[in-house]
Amino acid sequence: MERMDAAIQNLRLSGGRITHARKSVLQALVTARTHVTAEDLLNLVQADSPEIHVSTVYRTLDALEKLGVVDHVHLGHGRAVYHLTDNAHQHIVCERCSSVEEVPSRLFTRLGKDLMDNYHFKVRMNHFAVIGTCRKCLKETERTTSN
Ligand SMILES: [Zn+2]
Ligand SMILES: [Zn+2]
Ligand SMILES: [Zn+2]
Repeated sequence: MERMDAAIQNLRLSGGRITHARKSVLQALVTARTHVTAEDLLNLVQADSPEIHVSTVYRTLDALEKLGVVDHVHLGHGRAVYHLTDNAHQHIVCERCSSVEEVPSRLFTRLGKDLMDNYHFKVRMNHFAVIGTCRKCLKETERTTSN
């Protein structure tokens, strides 16, 4: 419940109104724990509050994103997924097993600074995931290539 309170507080601080629909969407994001598509969110919200209309859910998601309380990220070829902005993180995604891991944004501070200093480019690092091979899959390839 703490995370929900924090999300509401965050919404209030961003100057957003607290409505039933907004609360429901935030609650769904807290409950989901993992990253969910807009469709997943819609299902979660309507499971609890069937009276909230589809278009309201999408509009609310959009409003929460503009307020900076919610953000979306592209983890790979699939649809965008949503998460709360309460802990700044970046995603590393394995292209073999599709596992998603969250890593602290500060790991990319240096890269962001270099891009700014050398190209005057302000990168929005967490909008896309970093794609690669996870430790588990790396181990498997090592095993098969060494045999
Ligand atoms: Zn996007
Ligand atoms: Zn995330
Ligand atoms: Zn993997």
